[in-house]
Amino acid sequence: MTITREFVERIPKTDLHLHLDGSLRLPTLIALARESGVKLPAYDEKGLRRLVFKKTYASLIEYLKGFEYATAVLQTGPALERAGYELARDNQAEGVRYIEVRFAPQLHQNPKLTCLEAMAALNRGLARAKEEFNARPEVGSGAEPPFEYGIIACAMRMFDYGYSRYFDALLHVHAHSGRKEVFALASQELIRAAVSAKTRLRLPIVGFDLAGAEAGFPAEDHAQAYALAHKNFLKKTVHAGEAYGPESIFQAITDLHADRLGHAVHLFDPEMIKSPEIKNKKAYVDNLVQFIADRRITIEVCLTSNLQTNPAIRSLARHSFRHMRKAKLSATFCTDNRTVSNTTVSGEILKAVRAFGITPGELKNFIIYGFKRSFFPGTYIEKRAYARRIIEYYEKVERRHLRRGKDGR
Ligand SMILES: [Zn+2]
Repeated sequence: MTITREFVERIPKTDLHLHLDGSLRLPTLIALARESGVKLPAYDEKGLRRLVFKKTYASLIEYLKGFEYATAVLQTGPALERAGYELARDNQAEGVRYIEVRFAPQLHQNPKLTCLEAMAALNRGLARAKEEFNARPEVGSGAEPPFEYGIIACAMRMFDYGYSRYFDALLHVHAHSGRKEVFALASQELIRAAVSAKTRLRLPIVGFDLAGAEAGFPAEDHAQAYALAHKNFLKKTVHAGEAYGPESIFQAITDLHADRLGHAVHLFDPEMIKSPEIKNKKAYVDNLVQFIADRRITIEVCLTSNLQTNPAIRSLARHSFRHMRKAKLSATFCTDNRTVSNTTVSGEILKAVRAFGITPGELKNFIIYGFKRSFFPGTYIEKRAYARRIIEYYEKVERRHLRRGKDGR
């Protein structure tokens, strides 16, 4: 069986690492900027692609520029609702059946919009897209599985002044504390808000994440927030090993109890270990890999994004996914940012198939991992039933694809 684009678009898929602000449609960014008076360097898609949302980026700073504009326009309930709705629709259009949308509510918080209101607004958009999709006859009849989603609240390792009104105010009020302390405090506040949104507002806040610059801002600063998430049964993922070595991944799974890891690109790089206390770097990495494999800690692999933020990787064939695959780690393909990385879930899968020669059997495993290791908002029984329906549907698509292949169509 050959894995074709058509096949990849038809199979049910997940995206477990998907940032709202990095995935805003460009025409929507332009429309919202006009409405809210946010200045953009261009007001047409072509111009924005040339100046901001590029194919390759010279630096991380350049890569992050797009987020700044998106965050600036997503400061009202209706804007967040629209972004959530369109993001779900874009995923549905390419056969993605389950998404976990992550965003940092505190970056959208302002005197007119609370953290809880920001979460509720995003949820309204996602819920509307889900209802519309699940009202389709093929879903109603049970011939196809429904669309589902969860929301992940992101805490930030660090931010400079001028990006977010919330963090500006916080840094101002706690002017005598170090920045790290202020950001650690903000993550704890976010957990409390997430728990409240989940229990009081019944929003599908399924997990907690930590994003932002790794170097100089270690995950362990946020251990208290993660302990709080742990005690409140929130699932946990951490951006780790994207711009820093294996120690960052170690902290994510020990201090932060991570169930999943965002990127973990540098998991297999002993030479990136900085601590002088780690004498046998190779053994440290080997043990870490075995622990991650055995605990089925799932790696959210974002190929295009990794190439853009780590130009040193140079080509996908040299991406550490090749080691993840060999070590039989639980991994799932994600976009990270549909707009900033100019990609789709199908696009990421096809890239992986071409670069690593993934077989149809392996692909099926990776796809199913996505559903099984998701932070599904329902009960475990419901999650299992959903995964079962997905597998049955996947096999149906597979059989149809094989028949077509035989008929030469
Ligand atoms: Zn990310």
